Amino acid sequence: MFSYYMPTRILVGENVVRNNASAFALGRKAIIVTGRSSAQKCGALNDVTDALNKIGVSYDVYDKIENNPTVECAYYGGRFAKDHGADFIIGIGGGSPMDASKAIAVYAVNDIEPMQIFDGNFVNKPLPIIAVPTTAGTGSEVTPYSILTLTKEQTKRNFTCEDCFPKIAFLDGRYTVKLPIQVARNTAVDAMCHAIEGYLNNRATAASDYIALETLRLIGECLPALKSGDFSVPICEKLLFAASLGGIVISQAGTTIVHSMGYQLTFFKDIPHGMANGMLIGAFLDWCGDVCGEKIARVVEAIGLSSVCEFKELMKKLLVNESLFTDEEIEAYLKISMNAKLASAPKTVTIDGERDIYRKSLL
Ligand code: NAP
Ligand code: FE
Repeated sequence: MFSYYMPTRILVGENVVRNNASAFALGRKAIIVTGRSSAQKCGALNDVTDALNKIGVSYDVYDKIENNPTVECAYYGGRFAKDHGADFIIGIGGGSPMDASKAIAVYAVNDIEPMQIFDGNFVNKPLPIIAVPTTAGTGSEVTPYSILTLTKEQTKRNFTCEDCFPKIAFLDGRYTVKLPIQVARNTAVDAMCHAIEGYLNNRATAASDYIALETLRLIGECLPALKSGDFSVPICEKLLFAASLGGIVISQAGTTIVHSMGYQLTFFKDIPHGMANGMLIGAFLDWCGDVCGEKIARVVEAIGLSSVCEFKELMKKLLVNESLFTDEEIEAYLKISMNAKLASAPKTVTIDGERDIYRKSLL
C-alpha cells in the first residue's frame, strides 16, 4: 500500500518560460523572489518579467534572499509581499530562493509569529507559487518543503505544507549552463543524496524507488560533464530534470540522517548544502550497509559504478572540502542532530552511529 501525490506541472525545454507566458497568469500581482544576482545574470529573471509584461501581470522583485535563508529573511519577504498586494509568488534561483518563496507565500497571508510556520499553525492557504530553478539539485520546485535556518537553535528546520507545492516548475537548461563548476557539482550531489536517502528510507514506496533509480541513472550519464566542467544546454536540462525527479522522490519518501547531520556542517562551517551531504553519504552507506546491502548495490549500479568504494572516490573527486573539524565540534553537532526526526532512517539511529558517521567523514 502506498500513496503518490505530485501536484506540480513540470514544463521542460529551451525557452520554456517565453513559450508559455500564459501559464504565468496565476493572479494580477506577482512578487518575484530571488537571491542577490544570479537570477538576473543567468537570464531567468528577464525571461520571467518579459512573460509577465506580455500577459499584463504586474510584479515587484524581492531580491534579498541569502543562501540558506533564515526564518527572519523569509518573514520580511512575507511582509513585503503583503505590503505590495501580491496574489502569487514566483521563486527564481537555487533552493534558497525557492524555499524562501514557500515561506513568503505563507507569511504574506497569515498574521503569525515567524516560528509558528513550523507548527503548521496558520489558517489561510499560502499564495500560489511558480518555481524556476537555476541550480540542478534541491528539487524544491516539486516539493512541499521549505528549509529555513534557525539562528538561535544553530541549525536548519523544515516546514512542510501541501499547498506549498509549486503549481508550475519551469526547467530550462540555459539557466544552469554557466553555473560555477563547484555549485554544479554540489547541487548534483544533493540530487543524488535525495535519490539515495529516499531509496534507502523506510518511507520509500514502489513509486519513489522507481523514480530514485532513474534519478541516479540520469545523473550517472552526466558524470563526465560534472567531472570535466564541460556543460551543454542538453546536459544541463538532463541534470535539471534529474534534480526534479530527486525532488519527487523526497516528496514521497523524505530524506534521512545525511540531511539532518549535514545541516550542522552548513550552519557552523558554511559548507554548501549539497557538499555537506556528499561529505557524509559514504559513511552513511557503510553505517546502513548491514541492513540494506542489496539496495545499496542497486544504487551503485544505477549510477554506473561498480562498488561503494568507487562511489566514495567519486564524492572525493567532485567535492573539495578544506574545513577542519575537531572531536569537540562533532560532539556539539551530535547534540543538535540527534534532535531531528530520525524514525525514517533505514535502521535505529544511535548517538554512537551518528558519531561514527561524522568521525569517518570529517576527521
Ligand atoms: P542556493 O543557496 O540557492 O544558491 C547557492 C549559490 O548559487 C548562490 O550564491 C546563488 O547566487 C548561486 N546561483 C544560483 N543559481 C545560479 C546560476 N544559475 N548561475 C550562477 N550562480 C547561481 O543553492 P542550492 O544548493 O540550490 O540550495 C540550497 C538550499 O536549498 C539550502 O537552504 C537547502 O537546505 C535547501 N534545500 C531544499 C530542499 C527542498 O526540498 N525544499 C531540498 C534540498 C535542499 P544568488 O544568491 O545570486 O542567487
Ligand atoms: Fe537537499
